Amino acid sequence: MYYSDDVINEVLSRNDIVDVIGSYASLKKKGANYEACCPFHHEKTPSFKVNREKQMYHCFGCGVGGNVFTFVMEYENLNFPEAVERLAERAGVQLPEKSMNAQERSREQYKITLREMNKTAAAYFHYILKHSQHGEKAYEYFHETRGLSDETINKFALGYSDIYRDDLYRYLKSKGYTDDQMKGSGLVEISEKEGGVDKFWNRAMIPILDINGKVIAFGGRVMGDGKPKYINTSDTAVFDKSHTLFAMNIARRSRRKGFICCEGYMDVISLHQAGFTNAVASLGTALTAGHASLIKRYVKEVYLTYDSDDAGTRAALRAVPILREAGISAKVIRMDPYKDPDEFIKNLGAEEYEKRIQAARNGFMFSLEMLEREFDMNSPEGKTEFFREVSRRLLTFEDELERNNYIEAVATAYRISRDSLDKMVAKTAVSAGMARPVVRPKRADGVEKKKEDGIHLSQKALLTWMIEEERLFDQISNYISPGDFTEDLYRTVAELLYEQKRGRTESGKDPESFYRGRRTSGGCLTVQYKDQGTAYKGRA
Ligand code: ZN
Repeated sequence: MYYSDDVINEVLSRNDIVDVIGSYASLKKKGANYEACCPFHHEKTPSFKVNREKQMYHCFGCGVGGNVFTFVMEYENLNFPEAVERLAERAGVQLPEKSMNAQERSREQYKITLREMNKTAAAYFHYILKHSQHGEKAYEYFHETRGLSDETINKFALGYSDIYRDDLYRYLKSKGYTDDQMKGSGLVEISEKEGGVDKFWNRAMIPILDINGKVIAFGGRVMGDGKPKYINTSDTAVFDKSHTLFAMNIARRSRRKGFICCEGYMDVISLHQAGFTNAVASLGTALTAGHASLIKRYVKEVYLTYDSDDAGTRAALRAVPILREAGISAKVIRMDPYKDPDEFIKNLGAEEYEKRIQAARNGFMFSLEMLEREFDMNSPEGKTEFFREVSRRLLTFEDELERNNYIEAVATAYRISRDSLDKMVAKTAVSAGMARPVVRPKRADGVEKKKEDGIHLSQKALLTWMIEEERLFDQISNYISPGDFTEDLYRTVAELLYEQKRGRTESGKDPESFYRGRRTSGGCLTVQYKDQGTAYKGRA
């Protein structure tokens, strides 16, 4: 949405910076300025100043500064149009209508109705938890079994859905909602035969909020031994589970570093109670690329704190590459000997958990630790096999700097020499690629093509390293000759490279002019070379 300068100036003039920031931090007047402890960094003496005359703020501690828009953008993690909208709403400024057709307008209207309905339901469940006889056992579950304080129960607006199968339906009806409106809510199912039937009954209820703090769905945990133990609202017009993270509305304002990703909402609630307000969880689904892109809007680092059983470990291993793909670094918190963060904190306390966060393993290194279990690490053969697999995995890092950092980390962690690991990685590249016969794609179904791509990639990687690192060239050239490269382009480049490195340059040929290797951001190597007048340009 684009707003004109007139509109922006109107919003700016109606939102005094001292009033706006004063609602987030307690400002004290000091001379010409107002000051407070900085809301963007941790400090004990105030170095955050706000100037009413200039309508600007500045922190002498961490250097942040700007006007009322930048403050709201920074603090609330909003983009510029969103900040304009937020401040317009605060000051009662009417923004120009976005142009919508009738269908879009009614869809937007229905979403508003759904959010209101969910909010009404949350308030009702919370009331039943606290003020009905049936609610007592759910309260006991939250309070005694899970160890949640009243403050936490209120903060997360936890509730209880009664034992009657149409309790919520009748309540919503009494609040004026129609069958048609309830149909798409995920809260009630409407059938001709039975009328309205609640989705949740006799369950401890956990409201799920969107990033703006609006109730959009629920999780429900059965009371007693019924199955399934947990159910969530299925996707609706306002709830998309692959793009929603539980407690994101709180975590995004947390001053803690990164997010802690849990398996379930009960873990999240326990962590928040223990002070880890940056904990979030996906809802009845593994972490998706959609979650990763949501996370990336706020942080660049995630701590995975999944159950320490096999299923949890597998889930963590699956999440690591998804996060990496989105440019988020993933670390894994070890909770042994306990099963989950809830159990851990109950037994060892928040301070110990904090230590585990500090000691969290990098996701790749964690995956190697898990890999160890598959090999006999006590026998030389088992160990060799293990390092062969590690080398294969190291080859998946296309970025050279990243790959080198990991090779270094692995060498240190497993106390092997950097040189021998380098050799092994190079050897693995060879055996993964060049030692195998080239498979030409026969059909367009992509199966065989893919195999060739692997060979292609490892040849490319190997050649790039040999060009970029003298040390590697010396090692590798002892057992690989240019003829081992199956791609014409690589072979030619390799021939030139060998000639150059061994100083056997034929007269009239200058190898420097034959190739120029350039890495691009995608990790591709673009090779250009000229051969006796004919120009050839290949992109590998
Ligand atoms: Zn600051």
